[in-house]
Amino acid sequence: MDNKRIIIALDGHSSCGKSTFAKAIAARLGYIFIDTGAMYRAVTLYALEHGAITSGIVDEARTEALLGEINIDFRFNAARGASDIYVNGDLVEGKIRTIEVSNCVSAVSSIGEVRRRLVALQQEMGRRKGVVMDGRDIGTVVFPDAELKIFMTAKAEVRAERRFKELTAKGDNVTFEEVYRNVVSRDKADTTRSISPLRKADDAIVLDNSHMSVEEQMAWFMERYNEAIKKL
Ligand code: C5P
Repeated sequence: MDNKRIIIALDGHSSCGKSTFAKAIAARLGYIFIDTGAMYRAVTLYALEHGAITSGIVDEARTEALLGEINIDFRFNAARGASDIYVNGDLVEGKIRTIEVSNCVSAVSSIGEVRRRLVALQQEMGRRKGVVMDGRDIGTVVFPDAELKIFMTAKAEVRAERRFKELTAKGDNVTFEEVYRNVVSRDKADTTRSISPLRKADDAIVLDNSHMSVEEQMAWFMERYNEAIKKL
């Protein structure tokens, strides 16, 4: 039934198309899409721009000290059919997906205080349900009671190829090797960090999309969604 609104937790590895998938699901169901990776990226960008990261080394204390002055919000952009992320009123959507931010974001997201702040904000955003939240710890930490949890993955080569195409299409001057290394090193950092490491929640359903089209993924999802709704 339409009036049953749930929380959909979408976790998984870097660059496996989580955001694209989450956006499509949200559009289909009339839900709000929240990209939590964008929030960690926004904090990383702010840290880079305010002297808390030098030569790729993240100064934890300085990053923590900056947290109080970082105000994150999402605003719906009708042209894109998705929300853009703002920091202190500035649109940063276009600046948070560079390789520089990608290379530092795992270190920033392993800082306990960063996670505590962002998790609290995410819980507030999902309070009224009807959300698709994509991240690494949504089904395990942010919404352990989410009605539907999906764990997305794909082979590292496939993910690097997709991200490489995306970056070069935007005009970024990167090599496939560089992107591949970033994907592999983020997998390692995200799964081995001590606080909220990336792991599949026991009750999450795995979706390996290495060889699936967007349409096939949507059909797969709708079956799971209908089952979850029936259980309510
Ligand atoms: O999803 P995306 O690749 O944009 O996320 C960027 C980074 O943010 C991840 O590699 C991970 O280090 C961090 N992240 C996280 N927890 C989340 C979402 C993202 O630690 N819920």
